[in-house]
Order: sequence, then C-alpha cells, then structure tokens
Amino acid sequence: MTATGKITYISLGADDPEVNAAFDAAIARVGSELGRTYPLHVAGQTRAGATTIDSLSPSDTRVLVARVASGTKQDVDDAVGAARAAFPAWSRTPWSQRAQLLDKAAGLIRKRRYDLSVWLMHEMGKNRVEALGEVEETADLLTYYTQQMRESGGYIKEMGKLVPTDRNTSVLRPYGVWAVVAPWNFPFALLGAPVAAALLTGNTVVCKPSSETPLSGIKLVEILEEAGLPRGTVSCVPGSGRVVGDGLAMHPDVDGLTFTGSFDVGFKQLFQRFSTRFPKPCIVEMGGKNPAIVMDSADVDKAVQGVYRSAFGMNGHKCSACSRVYVHRAVADTFIERLSKMADATKIGNPLEKGVFVGPIATKAGHEDYRRFVDLAAKAGPGVVRAGGQVMTDGAFANGYFARPTVLAGLPRDHQLLREELFVPIVAVTPVGDLGEALEQANDTPFGLTAGFFSRKQDEIDTFLDRIQAGVVYVNRAAGATTGAWPGVQPFGGWKGSGSTGKNIGGVHTLPCYLREQSRTVCE
Ligand code: NAD
Repeated sequence: MTATGKITYISLGADDPEVNAAFDAAIARVGSELGRTYPLHVAGQTRAGATTIDSLSPSDTRVLVARVASGTKQDVDDAVGAARAAFPAWSRTPWSQRAQLLDKAAGLIRKRRYDLSVWLMHEMGKNRVEALGEVEETADLLTYYTQQMRESGGYIKEMGKLVPTDRNTSVLRPYGVWAVVAPWNFPFALLGAPVAAALLTGNTVVCKPSSETPLSGIKLVEILEEAGLPRGTVSCVPGSGRVVGDGLAMHPDVDGLTFTGSFDVGFKQLFQRFSTRFPKPCIVEMGGKNPAIVMDSADVDKAVQGVYRSAFGMNGHKCSACSRVYVHRAVADTFIERLSKMADATKIGNPLEKGVFVGPIATKAGHEDYRRFVDLAAKAGPGVVRAGGQVMTDGAFANGYFARPTVLAGLPRDHQLLREELFVPIVAVTPVGDLGEALEQANDTPFGLTAGFFSRKQDEIDTFLDRIQAGVVYVNRAAGATTGAWPGVQPFGGWKGSGSTGKNIGGVHTLPCYLREQSRTVCE
C-alpha cells in the first residue's frame, strides 16, 4: 500500500512520488545484477542446465537480462519424481500450516515488490504501474487463496445423516502432482497463482515458465523455497514448450495440469491429449478476442478512455485486451476520431522511465506479427488504418521492438484481423445499427473471455449482461473497457475457447478445481 493506495492495473497514470522514488532505487539495485546466470530448481536443489536461455530486454536487445538454465526430459523426470515422493507428507500436512507458508511467501513478495517489478520491466517490457500491479496481484492471489481455505475450513464439511449412528463427511482432497505451464505476458502472476492454488490444496508442483520470460519463474520459486516449502514440493524447470512443456504435461506421473497460454497449445496440444488412461483435471486458460460495445446513449469520452486503456495498456499483450469495438453509427465518427487522437498522443518509451505508458512489444515474434497485421489492414482498403500503423526504429527505439498503437476502422466482418487474437497494440472499430447487431457480432467468436459495454440506459445494460458470452464483463468502466481483473474483486477466466473450467482465477471457486471430493460415511 502506498500513500495514494494500492497499485493495481487500473492505477495507470498514477504519479506517486513515493512509488517513483522506490522504483528509482530498485532500478539501480537490479541494474547491477543484470546478466547473471540462474540454475534450475529441481527437488529442492539447484542444478545447471544442459543449455541456457538468454533472456534479452525487448527495449534493447543488446541487454542480457539473465541467462537461465534450460531443462531436459531428464530434469522433468527428476522434478516429477521428487514431487511424487513429496506428495504423501505434503498432502497430510494440516492445511493451516500450508496456508501459513504461502502467507509467508506473499509477505516476501510484498517486501520485494519493487525489485521484482523492475525484473518484469526488464524481462517483459511492462511499464512501472503494470509491473507493480502484477507483483501486487500475485501477492494478493496467494493471500486470497489462503483466506478462501480458511473460510471454507479446509473444505471439510459435516453432511446430513440417514441413520443417527452414522457420521457423514464431505472432504476435498488433492490429486497428487500438478504441472503448471505459464505464458510470458503475466509471467509472475500466472505462474504464481496456479502454483499457490495447487500447493495450498495439498498437491505438489512442477512448473515451467515461458522461455520468453524464464527469470520470473525462478524468482517465484526462490521465494517459495525461502518461505520454507519442503524439499520436492515445488520445482521449476524452464525450457522449451516442446521438450519441457509437453514432457511435463504428458508425463504419466502428472495428475493435474494448469496451462495458461494460446488456444492452439492449450486446447489442441494439451487439453485434447492430457487424459489417456482415465480422466484427469486439465485447467486451460486461453486467449480472447474481446469486444466492447458503445451505444449512442453512452458517455463517449468514458468509452474512448476505457477502450484506449484496454486496447493499448501493456501494448495489447493481455488475454483480456480490447480487440474489437462495435459502436453505434450515431457516435461512431466521434468515437473513432477521439480514440485515434488519444492513440497518436501515447507516451511510448523505455518502460523503466517514469510516466511511460507503453514500452516495447515484448517479443520478436510479436513485433513481426504487428508488421504483418498492419500490412493486412492497409491492404483491406484506403482509410482503414486511422492511427499508428508503424514500427519505431529511430534513435532510442533502434534496438527494441517498439510500435505505435493502432486504430483500424471499417474492416469487413469476416476479415482475419476481426477473427484472430492479435495480442499486439491494434484495435478494430466497426459501426453498428443497434444493440442486437452489436451483440450478435460481439458473440460471433470462438472465444469468450472478457467484454465491455458503454450505455446510460438500464434496459440496454440488462440486455448486454444477459446476452453477452464472456466470463468477465464490465459496464461503463473508464479504467478499462475489458481489462483490469483483481483477485477477490473481479475474478478472471473464460467461456468457450477461452477456458476449460467455467470458473475464474482469483474467485471463490478456484481452489476446488485443484481438489477431488471424498464422501465419507463412518458407522458406529
Ligand atoms: P503459448 O501458448 O505460446 O505458450 C504458453 C506456454 O506453453 C509457454 O510456457 C510455452 O513454452 C508453452 N508451450 C508451447 N508449446 C507447448 C507444447 N507443445 N506443449 C506444452 N507447452 C507448450 O502462449 P504465450 O505466447 O506464452 O502467451 C500468450 C497467450 O496466452 C495468448 O493467447 C493469451 O491470450 C494467453 N493468455 C491467457 C490468459 C488467461 O487467463 N486466459 C492469461 C494470459 C495469457
């Protein structure tokens, strides 16, 4: 907590002198540690990898952020073996003790919030507020889960009786070894949340961070070890998706999986193949193609601000990013003009600097995608690209993956850019005649993650809430039309091709996804 309150994703633009001074000090500290080599964490011990991954700064690819060991199939086998061996003792450890260890880890994360944030800024290119928001969110996820565990009494519940002498109890129990595979866009929170949920519920864990951001996973596991997690309960094996990710997910001794990432990997490569001998729990949280709808009754400035923040915050590298906007024809021209003006005025730069709204695109592949998408947009017709549309290569931008926030308008309905997840700073606006048409187009996607709505009419708001197909929905939110979830406040997860459980991360239903029920009847 700072003098001006907790930093979350919706605090963008916060200019707290205390926060910025703490950042300046952390940037100096972390700067002296850049380029170090980090080992794997397997079975409570560190070990060198057969090869290493160079984690380079997307702001300046000449900067080596860290050299991280990359795992092999043998490392995966060893980590899974250690998790299997640690499971009996860990699952029998009272849940209150497990919760205490995770609370301690949350405390360590909060204590090091600025240094951890600076590592995220170097590794992934987040700005100050986005990075601090992610670190705070990770700590809050851990704390929220331990609260849930306490409130539910460890998921042990006395049931009714058919015979007075019987005792019936429902007990939720862990599965065994849980694999966690994480993406690069929230490398700390989206590794930390499922790892914590699995551990707290008594599973043991092997996790794999993305090879784009391997250091965040190592930092998390260092903290869990320091908090006192017993040997073998949690291992971290960075490495390629093909060798480590697939090797882990398909390991016969892995009992459950949480994957966060793309639909192609999550659904096609993992969910459809995960269960072989019998059904096993497979949580896949995937992409989005998130719409916002703006009605003629809306406060247009509020809608512009909400869409701007959700489309361009963190360069559109959010599964919840706003990608499509359906605007009532009566206000479409005004909306497009104001959104384009705001996009053109974006402060782009080195994310370490105070006040920068967007840093670089986080990956080389994303930078290439951006170029390809703006070419496609330009070919769709004159006047489609209303703002942005260029990569930035001059001066301070020469060695990074910088690009301008881009607004498109008037793409044909079946255009690729209106169908596929883009994951870069591009938003497409489509004028519509009424709410029915807007909802029909908004729902016409295999995804169902987040959605936003702007209107001053209650009947329109009710219709939107009733008919929109998405796991997280926001109405009249200037702080983010489709983004900005928070544990215990706005849990986060997807319907349809965006998620497998129909339950949201950081919500009241998360922990039971990591547990199976045993119904116990004990007779006198
Ligand atoms: P990705 O699917 O390319 O990779 C995710 C993870 O899977 C990485 O660790 C990667 O190394 C690993 N992987 C790749 N191929 C694999 C394979 N064959 N077997 C096992 N593991 C494999 O996704 P990404 O580019 O890291 O992340 C971006 C995607 O994540 C976007 O689609 C975004 O929408 C999605 N995402 C979803 C959520 C959510 O909560 N729904 C949150 C963040 C990101």
